[in-house]
Amino acid sequence: FGRITAMGTKDDKTPIPGFATRAIHEGYDPADAQGALTPPIFTSATYAFSDLAEGMDVFAKRRDGFVYSRSGNPTTSLLETRLASLEGGEAALVTGSGMGAISSLLWTLLEPGDEIVADKTLYGCTFAYLHRGLARFGVKVQHLDLSDPANLAFGLSPDTRLVFLETPANPNMRLVDIAAVSAVAHAAGVRVVVDNTYCSPYLQQPLGLGADFVVHSATKYLGGHGDPIAGAVIGPAEDIAEVRANGLREMTGSVLSSFDAFLILRGLKTLALRMERHSANAMALAAFLDAHRAVAKVWYPGLKSFSQHALARRQMRAFGGMIALEVSGGMERAVRFVDSLRLATRAVSLGDAETLV
Ligand code: PLP
Repeated sequence: FGRITAMGTKDDKTPIPGFATRAIHEGYDPADAQGALTPPIFTSATYAFSDLAEGMDVFAKRRDGFVYSRSGNPTTSLLETRLASLEGGEAALVTGSGMGAISSLLWTLLEPGDEIVADKTLYGCTFAYLHRGLARFGVKVQHLDLSDPANLAFGLSPDTRLVFLETPANPNMRLVDIAAVSAVAHAAGVRVVVDNTYCSPYLQQPLGLGADFVVHSATKYLGGHGDPIAGAVIGPAEDIAEVRANGLREMTGSVLSSFDAFLILRGLKTLALRMERHSANAMALAAFLDAHRAVAKVWYPGLKSFSQHALARRQMRAFGGMIALEVSGGMERAVRFVDSLRLATRAVSLGDAETLV
């Protein structure tokens, strides 16, 4: 199991398999684990060295090996190999939650005095982390409406280090043109982080569009069954090594358990199928709601009436499973609507088999 291989890179002639195949096979050869078809769950906190010289070599990174599961474990490592491949990145790091991924990354990349530009629509806890976490420790946080990439040029300063965005954004579904924002940011030497939770790499691959880092709440579509809480960061190998050593190991300690890594690995096997079905179901539901007299407005990137539909077609393979809607008649009617639903469940989160509202 020590020999983790990247599919398609063994020699130049091996074609790189497609997305759904890599989601099942990437990085694992049963021959390395006594023929076990399903990768084993390694549950060791620490790892033995045959002698001190080996330990010193592993510590000094002169040879590969695991030291302590806060900074690496064979099961989480396989998940990292697989996620890096699916997002088209050099390397990945998995964490104990999506917030663990975001905080491990940003606390590694930013220092007091630096500035971060974030889109004006963000998942609530990310917003809270920027203001109650980063800002308290001397990072300046600025929000811009990045749905118009031209706005970014006005917000950049010599201290800006990062741009952070979600697309589609939680919860109002606004899109950001990843390629356009990355071009403006890169011209100023600023790197771009995209939270790809709403899409998964099956629907959208921000690194291929020019972003520098992708973060995920793997709790959502990557796991797909609403059981583990998990996160991931994907990006350049050198930076990911730094995020592992500094952000994860020394600051957040937001480690993913090998049991939960196993659940995400299992979820990934059906990611392509699930995202196709989520997208088809949501498209039908969005069209139904859009035509309903009790609904004032629907925001779904697949609808022709969606103001950024052209951008959605350009940067997404399909339009995902999330819909935002406004019920006619205000709060009272909205509460009645939500409380009247029989099958859709009133719960936070997304990306499960169940429909949540
Ligand atoms: N990013 C987005 C877009 C989310 O929706 C969430 C959670 O809902 C997170 C990040 C945080 O992820 P987690 O709940 O796994 O910490």
